[in-house]
Amino acid sequence: MAGLARDGGLLLPESIPNARPLLTAWRDLEYQDLACEIFSLFVDDIDTHILRAIIARSYNTFRHPEITPVVPVDKIHVLELFHGPTLAFKDVALQLLGNLFEYLLEETGRDMNIVAATSGDTGSAAIHGVRGRQRQRIFVMHPRGRVSPVQELQMTSVLDRNVHNLAVDGTFDDCQEIVKALFNDLEFRDRYALGAVNSINWARILAQIVYYFYAAFRVMERTSADKVRFTVPTGNFGDVFAGYLAFRMGLPIDRLVLATNENRILATYFNSGVYRLGKVANTISPSMDIQVASNFERFLYFQANSDTGQVRTWMEQLKRTGVIITPEVKHDCLRAGDTDTATTLRTIKEYWEKYGYLLDPHTAVGVSVGRRLCDDAYPLIALATAHPAKFGEAIRNATGQDLAHHPEIDRLHGAPTRVQQIPADPQAVTAFIRKAVEK
Ligand SMILES: *Cc1c(COP(=O)(O)O)cnc(C)c1O
Repeated sequence: MAGLARDGGLLLPESIPNARPLLTAWRDLEYQDLACEIFSLFVDDIDTHILRAIIARSYNTFRHPEITPVVPVDKIHVLELFHGPTLAFKDVALQLLGNLFEYLLEETGRDMNIVAATSGDTGSAAIHGVRGRQRQRIFVMHPRGRVSPVQELQMTSVLDRNVHNLAVDGTFDDCQEIVKALFNDLEFRDRYALGAVNSINWARILAQIVYYFYAAFRVMERTSADKVRFTVPTGNFGDVFAGYLAFRMGLPIDRLVLATNENRILATYFNSGVYRLGKVANTISPSMDIQVASNFERFLYFQANSDTGQVRTWMEQLKRTGVIITPEVKHDCLRAGDTDTATTLRTIKEYWEKYGYLLDPHTAVGVSVGRRLCDDAYPLIALATAHPAKFGEAIRNATGQDLAHHPEIDRLHGAPTRVQQIPADPQAVTAFIRKAVEK
């Protein structure tokens, strides 16, 4: 529940469990049962039957019986992660988090104020995870005018009293910086019982490990391959980091492709060992328009052979100079590449015209880079992180047609909204939270 550790760092388990002996027993499990098995390796303070009930409730809201089905499209396998309430993969973790928090708050009789920064999809998924709940209030900051109109409506059209949308005059990185500032103000943090739902929250990563196992089992069964590859469109390094942990747990992943748009800071790092902050470029895959990848710090822990002092030094260097240079990059299964808008649009068009399958622009980034970096030696699973209807304009630009619809999105147009504009200043945000809580 803590989100950020009290010294400003991120939390990780002390050790990563070895799942190799369990793979055979797990391969035929349904999604929910698999989730329960995987969580049980990391969670020792919630009874299994309670955990099972929390998981069941969390995935009841999904529109597909398999939760995250894997669909073959030509030579690749598309892992559809967008069947939750807000049509993006973030629902997989945030539906669970809302229920986990509720259970833990009921246990202790406490309330919680969640603060979140969003580049678009986290916000609406987090809001739908906690809307209408008694013990949770949520404050979501998005960069004003820099999320898609649909993403904005998915957040601001939720009028529940425990939901507060803040449109920040700044970038996503500014929003994320404010969240960190609020958490590092220990007095404010304790007084207002702050909670985090951004991927700095470990439970989110944990929830995302599950679908790597689930998809690998489906595809190994379908193809008789003994290893698989994944390609993951990346912004904050949360999703791909969950895949990296699945690899460390022993899932036979031959290759894990980290794919970025023009915000290629992570791709550059993996190909040079230099992590250098730059300016954010606005693209058609806005959920990946990020420079400070919050979960990269967790990867650095493994780069540093678990030397937390070294991680601290690197993170301080980043803050001071805007650059981290590690002596070498230990890739393990990770490979990285970037792509540009023209290629992404071309990929969407190609998959629609040749295979009748519509990729959202984030997924298309993953597909385009994954295909470039992988031959056919092992099956390639492409993570589909959003439903194309969330990014209708990009689909129109790519295909020349108005193809991307979903009833959940279409009903948003003209819906009443509530949102507060605010400067990119932690003080302004703390003042807003104080006022809302004390009302
Ligand atoms: C958040 C998001 C991503 C990036 O995920 P990270 O965990 O931040 O790397 C990619 N695609 C979509 C649609 C997203 O919402």
